Amino acid sequence: MGKKFVYFFGEGQADGSAQMKDLLGGKGANLAEMTRLGIPVPPGFTISTEVCTHYYQSRGQYPEGLQEQVQEALARLEKIMGRRLGDPERPLLVSVRSGAAISMPGMMDTVLNLGLNDTTVEGLAKETGDPRFAYDCYRRFLSMYGDVVLGLKPESEDDLDPFEEIIDALKTSRGVAFDNQLSAEDLKELVQRYKDFIREKIGRDFPQDPTDQLWGAIGAVFGSWDNPRAIAYRELNGIPDEMGTAVNVQSMVFGNMGDDCATGVAFTRNPATGENVLYGEYLVNAQGEDVVAGIRTPQPINKAQATDPDMVSLEEAMPEAYAELERIRKILDRHYRDMQDIEFTIQRGKLWMLQTRSGKRTGFAAFKIAVDMVREGILSEEEALMRVEPNQLNQLLRPIFDMEAKQKAMASGALLSKGLNAGPGAASGRVVFNAVDAEQWAARDEQVILVRLETSPDDIRGMHAAQGILTSRGGMTSHAALVARQMGKVCVVGCGDMEIDYKKRQMSANGRVIREGDWISLDGSTGEVFQGRIPTKPSEVLQVMEGALKAEESPIYQDYQSLMEWADKARRLGVRTNADQPDQAGMALAFGAEGIGLCRTEHMFFEGERINVVRQMILARTKEGRERALAQLLPMQKEDFKGIFRVMNGLPVTIRTLDPPLHEFLPTEDADIRTVADQMGVAEEDVRAKLQALHEANPMLGHRGCRLGVVYPEITAMQARAILEAACEVKKEGTEVRPEIMIPLVGHVAELEDQKRVVDQVAREVMEAHGVEVPYLVGTMIEVPRGALTADKVAREAAFFSFGTNDLTQTVFGISRDDAAKFLHHYLEKKIWQFDPFEKIDQEGVGQLMRMGVEKGRATRADLKVGICGEHGGEPTSVEFCHRIGLDYVSCSPYRVPIARLAAARAAIREKN
Ligand code: PEP
Ligand code: MG
Repeated sequence: MGKKFVYFFGEGQADGSAQMKDLLGGKGANLAEMTRLGIPVPPGFTISTEVCTHYYQSRGQYPEGLQEQVQEALARLEKIMGRRLGDPERPLLVSVRSGAAISMPGMMDTVLNLGLNDTTVEGLAKETGDPRFAYDCYRRFLSMYGDVVLGLKPESEDDLDPFEEIIDALKTSRGVAFDNQLSAEDLKELVQRYKDFIREKIGRDFPQDPTDQLWGAIGAVFGSWDNPRAIAYRELNGIPDEMGTAVNVQSMVFGNMGDDCATGVAFTRNPATGENVLYGEYLVNAQGEDVVAGIRTPQPINKAQATDPDMVSLEEAMPEAYAELERIRKILDRHYRDMQDIEFTIQRGKLWMLQTRSGKRTGFAAFKIAVDMVREGILSEEEALMRVEPNQLNQLLRPIFDMEAKQKAMASGALLSKGLNAGPGAASGRVVFNAVDAEQWAARDEQVILVRLETSPDDIRGMHAAQGILTSRGGMTSHAALVARQMGKVCVVGCGDMEIDYKKRQMSANGRVIREGDWISLDGSTGEVFQGRIPTKPSEVLQVMEGALKAEESPIYQDYQSLMEWADKARRLGVRTNADQPDQAGMALAFGAEGIGLCRTEHMFFEGERINVVRQMILARTKEGRERALAQLLPMQKEDFKGIFRVMNGLPVTIRTLDPPLHEFLPTEDADIRTVADQMGVAEEDVRAKLQALHEANPMLGHRGCRLGVVYPEITAMQARAILEAACEVKKEGTEVRPEIMIPLVGHVAELEDQKRVVDQVAREVMEAHGVEVPYLVGTMIEVPRGALTADKVAREAAFFSFGTNDLTQTVFGISRDDAAKFLHHYLEKKIWQFDPFEKIDQEGVGQLMRMGVEKGRATRADLKVGICGEHGGEPTSVEFCHRIGLDYVSCSPYRVPIARLAAARAAIREKN
């Protein structure tokens, strides 16, 4: 026998298992696993992902032996089911579904009822005694096959699905609102219209031979691996192109045979809040796609979930099937040790499981489930840390609406609609009605809310660009809800009372019309939609940190604290913050920062009237003039530093000497130029001449960084004095201080030597005058390539290094930080860059220099402390890299401190395992 491509499952036995995801895809592997667990699963078989790879490598050819193996598996299936594909009396019907190792909503998903044709539909009608059912199955098959296999899709962004247009027209002419109100005769008519439409579009008849249908569907699954939506999805989610998809062929069970039948989707825990309860939706007398497509509004699975007295939960409607589902939920949740997303069908009262997979969830739910599972004894602390993506913590730290503003909005009647709370958080933005607009508006820095009837994988990029997503159809498990949750977007779905008109680019709800560009606000935690822009405020965790709420009263905060404690136990890397002001430093401390890794002193120059003094300093013609201005600046800077030292209470504080090009501080407006001239007592013309002289062609590569201090040592001296006097005075108050003075943009050890001499001299004078000893360090930023290349020499003078990866990226790539945005998206689109190197460290290039810097630096000075303070310091993949190359700490913005703590813990755990 040749290579095995087809894996059978059925009757309690399976060729595959959950471990074989790469080969069988997630869906196939889990169908096999559930079969092995004795859970009722309709039998079928999986064609492996290797066939997909072969199909692409050989341009649409199948490997030898596949045909025979499929025939064999089909024969086995027919035997178990006592039915045959194409049999006019007892036809076997199958579903065909794609399934990659990682779930991919961008791909062809499902064809149901395959095997129906003009003959077998009659057989099915006779067998069930229910022609309406038979033709309902047939019309569904035609539209799904037409859409996903034959590619008959809406023609433009503004159009409806063509099959939906046909059925809508028929419903209107029959005067009915729902599909299930159409009679058997209506459905026969619909089948004819669908077939006519297909012939008209593809120029031949719909394939009647079930074997042709089967291979058509298999080919479409493999073909869908490379459709633009799938490619876009892989790109956004970093899924390799070579992975390939499997195909699952499974015998049909029917949820649409009558009122003792149903179909549904559920989660083993609540995917929005993480609560440990069965959560989901079902529809009586319906087939799978009805639930996700949002054609009829699904009903809740359990009683507690019913928010409306008209709702009938599965718990009430079919208590036995519900109890069985509850039993299976617990088995799956424990067996997989993770929250599962399950699909089921109830045929004549019997429950069948069609799918289980790890469920997509909000960042909030990911966090809650991970913490709960540790408490339930399912996961270890370290496993729990690996279950929460660092960026998901954003959702805990996310803004919510300012309650007062929201109540005011309520009182003024701004509530437009209420849907399902699919993605928590608060967002406001301007309405756009399609994904392309969402992307374009967002590129112009507009905040947008993407409003759709329902979303499809085509909308992914637009969803990504939007602040929030709003749909009029669909449930908690609709595409919009799933994808938004995964992206961590604020999302409200199923606002059934909202009317959307794509062509007019407007929507109406609650008697009001909202046009494209109007502001709306979404509360993704309650499902409310408001007209206008409602201000937001911090999350519950933040409220505890700010003292507005007591920790004992916030279970969320307590869970957050537990997770952070586990992270701190696991991590090796220190986490500091970039902060320039006491309040920022305070916030960062509450988030767990262990020091300040970067205080950009120049940020203090813009406060109040200071800028005028700074301008006088820069424009001074003589050293004396400059010193006069510096003397005025000294007390101001000193007060700032004292504030920071007090807040940091003995933790290390890294303060950088002046760095940016001086022209950034200079006046450009006539009035400002006049003010400076007056204050300095010189002619306006002189000021203009000086401005001209300071002009630089490439300021980013010009007179900045330590080059300022080298030319004007009195600036460095003033700053060192402000820092050290502040340190001495705060120390005298009884608070420990650990200043670390950092020289920027050093490329040659002599630059550092020069600046260090100035600092040490001032330090001696200040400490002598104050009669106190303050331990202080002088170190350097490594942010130009030469600094890294000669790090062994630089380390002779430096007590510490801090990588300035913003400038290092700029100088390694030879690309301006300021101008890169103009062409960056082209580079990303063309995949010349896989990611924005200003966001994530370019490990291959910039990273190599960092590695070298660490090695060379420590070769000279074994105990050299090394950190990072570029923006990358709070980005999870970069944090992991910093861990791997042995940095002592990362420093990032206050709100990213918890994210960096978690990322650092995950890096340490990954290294161990
Ligand atoms: C850096 O270059 O990475 C850095 C932290 O400094 P700045 O962004 O202020 O240039
Ligand atoms: Mg820099």
